[in-house]
Amino acid sequence: MSETAHLTCVKCTSVLDRATFEGLEVDLCPRCGGLWLDRGEITRAARLPDGEITRLRGLLTETDGPPPLPSSHLVPCPACDGKLSEVMLGAVHVDYCGRCHGIFLDRGELEEALAAVRERDAGATARQVFEAAVSVAG
Ligand SMILES: [Zn+2]
Ligand SMILES: [Zn+2]
Repeated sequence: MSETAHLTCVKCTSVLDRATFEGLEVDLCPRCGGLWLDRGEITRAARLPDGEITRLRGLLTETDGPPPLPSSHLVPCPACDGKLSEVMLGAVHVDYCGRCHGIFLDRGELEEALAAVRERDAGATARQVFEAAVSVAG
């Protein structure tokens, strides 16, 4: 699954860049600062050292595109044939694919999402997401 085609941003349709953090390969948008995480990657991201998190945050915020618009309708998943739906992950709304269990974080949502994963004290909906998105694909 490491040599798949580049994904397209669900918010601004730019082609996502690949970046690797201690072996964790993520897809991020150079234009709007969005971040796509495949199933289980949010958990791995939460375990990265602070220096790597800082580097990731830098890549996401050093963009000059317009801020992403909140999605009010179902958008196609960039990684599969599924549709993304908005769910709460900790304090932020994230776009979650119920089919491949990937999540899309808008610019600025990374910190809250990581905090939610680390604390595991989010609400019922987020726990539901955790069960799928946090489990590492077999
Ligand atoms: Zn984008
Ligand atoms: Zn999907």
